[in-house]
Amino acid sequence: MTNECIFCKIIQGKIPTDFLYKDDDLVAFRDINPQAPVHVLVVPVKHIPTINVLAEDDLPLIGKMVAAARDIAKNEKISKSGYKLIFNVEKGGGQEIFHIHLHLVGGWK
Ligand code: 5GP
Ligand code: ZN
Repeated sequence: MTNECIFCKIIQGKIPTDFLYKDDDLVAFRDINPQAPVHVLVVPVKHIPTINVLAEDDLPLIGKMVAAARDIAKNEKISKSGYKLIFNVEKGGGQEIFHIHLHLVGGWK
């Protein structure tokens, strides 16, 4: 955890946020600036700055994030209509918050 990271602050409860999902390993909450009718961020509790620095030991966590996103898509009733799961990696890949997160976007008509 870092003091400056906005997602660490959200996880620590320092920024009031409604969680769609929360356990010891990850949390999920709605994006503050949604790019689709459904836009949820799935975020590990562990502060990992980018996908580029993922350790071998972190790989099960990524599977857990994908499964959580799938379950949230089902709860949001967008499983059938479809959705995208996106990791933005580094500034050139659109990453603005350097604490990895999986974007779940969908719900288009
Ligand atoms: P990135 O560009 O790093 O892949 O995505 C960061 C995302 O975090 C953006 O879509 C942005 O709207 C979202 N975001 C930034 N700050 C906050 C915040 O304080 N609360 C929430 N819920 N989302 C945030
Ligand atoms: Zn962090």
